[in-house]
Order: sequence, then C-alpha cells, then structure tokens
Amino acid sequence: MISPLLPTYARAQVAFERGEGPYLFATDGRKYLDFGAGIAVNAFGHAHPHLIAALAAQAAKLWHTSNLYRVTGQEQLSERLVAATFADTVFFCNSGAEALECAIKMTRKFHASRGEPQRFRIITFEGAFHGRTLATIAAGGQKKYLEGFGPKVDGFDQVPFGDMDAVKRAIGPETAGILIEPVQGEGGVRPVPPEHMRELRSLCDEHGLLLVLDEVQSGMGRTGKLFAHEWSGVTPDIMAIAKALGGGFPVGACLATERAAAGMVAGTHGSTFGGNPLAMAVGNAVLDLALAPGFLEHVNAIANYLKQQLGMIADKHREVIEEVRGEGLLLGLKCKVPNTELANALRERGLLTVGAGDNVVRLLPPLIINEEHVREAIGILNDACLSLTHRPAKDAAK
Ligand SMILES: *Cc1c(COP(=O)(O)O)cnc(C)c1O
Repeated sequence: MISPLLPTYARAQVAFERGEGPYLFATDGRKYLDFGAGIAVNAFGHAHPHLIAALAAQAAKLWHTSNLYRVTGQEQLSERLVAATFADTVFFCNSGAEALECAIKMTRKFHASRGEPQRFRIITFEGAFHGRTLATIAAGGQKKYLEGFGPKVDGFDQVPFGDMDAVKRAIGPETAGILIEPVQGEGGVRPVPPEHMRELRSLCDEHGLLLVLDEVQSGMGRTGKLFAHEWSGVTPDIMAIAKALGGGFPVGACLATERAAAGMVAGTHGSTFGGNPLAMAVGNAVLDLALAPGFLEHVNAIANYLKQQLGMIADKHREVIEEVRGEGLLLGLKCKVPNTELANALRERGLLTVGAGDNVVRLLPPLIINEEHVREAIGILNDACLSLTHRPAKDAAK
C-alpha cells in the first residue's frame, strides 16, 4: 500500500525536531553534526538568531501581497545583489529549478527579441544537475531523471564534462547559450578549471552566446567567494541561485545583465509566490551575514583547515577514500567503497553528509563551523573509515 506521503525519496530513518548552529537533534534525542546542511542550504547553521528575528518580524507584519504590487523587500534585496555581483537585474522565485527555468527562458528570449528566434538551443554538460522540472531534467540530461516522463524538452545539447573541443563542435546556428555549474555538485563535486571558464566566456563572446551559470549550490559564499565564478575572473550573462540564499527558507533568484534581460518585459514571466515578503526578509538577513566583513575570510580559512585534515584522513585510509576534491566548503570524498556505505557509517556515528554522483560523499557544512567542529567531524570520519577497513570476522575469515 502506498504511503500517504508520495514515496519519491529514499529517506534515512531519522527525523529531526530541533537545530542549533551546525547541530541537529533527532526525535529520539540523538545529536548529529550536520555536514550536509540540508544540501548546502543552511549556510548559517540552524536557528541563527539574526534569521529568526528577520522572519519573525516580517511574519508579524505581512506575509504575502502578490506581484500585482510593489514588494519593498524585493526592491531592497535586488539592489543589494546587483551591488554585490555582475548583475543589473534580478527575478525572484522559490527554488533552484525555477531560477533555472527563468534563466533558460531568458536565454531564448534574448535571441528572439533580437530577431533570431531560431537560436534557442543551450549547450550543457554531462553529470550536470539543474533541477527536476521538465526543462531542467532535459538540461541536466540524466537518463534516470528523464525516463518515463515523455518526450525530453527540446533545445539542450549535452557534451562531456571538461571537453572544450566538444563544446566548440556543438556550437551551431541555433545555439543560444552555454549553461554550466562552476562546480558540479550532484555530479560528484567536480570544479570547472578556471581556464575552462575563461574559454567558455570567450567562446560565448565570439559566437554571440549567453554564458549562463548555475550557482544554486556553489553560490552564497560556499566556495569562499560570494559566487564560485569569481575565482575564474569571468562573469556570466545570467546566473541562477537558490539554496543558501534563504538559509532554509525557500527562495531562488535569476540574476542577469541588462543586455541579457532585455527581452524580459512585463508579462513575459511570473510567479505567485516569487519574492514573497517572508522570503525577502530572510534573504536580506542572509545577505547581511554573507556580506559581513571577514565572513568570506572565515570560510576560506576553515575550508583550508578542513581540506588539509581530510587530506590526512585520505592518506591514512586509502582503501576507503581515493581523493578529496572540491572548492571551499563544497567538498567531496571520492570513495573506494560504495559511497552509501561511508555515508551510513558516518551517520551512525553522528555525522551527516550527502551522497553525489561518481561515488562521492559530499561535505557541505554550514559556513559558520569552527575548528572544533572540523576536529569532531574528522574524528568521526576516522572511526567510520576504520570500521569499513576492519570488517567483522565474517568477511575476514572468507
Ligand atoms: C539543488 C540544485 C538545483 C535545483 O534546486 P531545487 O531548489 O531543488 O529546484 C539546481 N541546480 C543545482 C546546481 C543544484 O544544486
């Protein structure tokens, strides 16, 4: 019999009732160190006083008015995002997939509004993840997400990750843009080398394409810059963000240059809930924290410490961990054992992580962690690796 809850997730048998900083407390009283952060969402940990205050204050005033009217929180947050990034303008929505939908529509509209509606195709990369809507599963191109859902939305040409020649060959008269995650998250924590980012930018300029970045996971300070593309020195034309933007409150955004957004006039796009006052109050509060002096320096320092400690664990447990990869606090452990085995062993010992493609265990801790949290996580990781190498006698006897 089907459960009342549509069974689309393979959930771990644990439920949480309370969080505090980087810790979660389960309904059975157990305490966990949360190095998954709700899949890179709780960048400021759980129950951050500044975010609670912002949400509570707004909740007592006004929840929703619709986009039939001005929403002052949207005006404020868009101005601040514009000031902090390459962008000139921002559309607010409620999730990462919706931010990508806006980015895809904007890319197509850009060319259409310049008299070239035949240019609607977007080049994407194998291993990408852009969300679960019909267009974003087509953009991601992963069979397991496309199967059984009818004809794949047309307009996406996928090339192997890291293959710049394939990108060049894929550019044709119908190409509108290139869509890429600066660090593939779900695909196994694979950073795009900065020289490839620069080459993609030049290819876009040369062929009149838009460079569209999916920073839903890599954005909002996760890699040690406010946005991951800043490491390469190039800027996109359009960028989708979400996850940490609301620190746990659902909100997404599509940022763009004035030129790229030129076709998106009144009536071309919308969302009932997008940019709702509650989401904007939290988004503005998140930005207070992300833009605070010294914050990104903290992320870089703690990320370096964690990466160095992980390197030592990987050296010590070569039968379990093949490689440590990633940027900032978007880190991956490429496993030699099945990644689910390591993730389960970690969770049993009180450390939460997230699986990824390519047999990787992702470490996405809240950006506010300190060295003590790192040491606690490393201790658990060491124990888990030991448990996976020193198997019970049952295995050893065979
Ligand atoms: C999570 C994610 C998405 C989808 O976001 P949703 O909020 O789940 O729709 C898109 N792109 C990337 C890179 C992501 O990590």
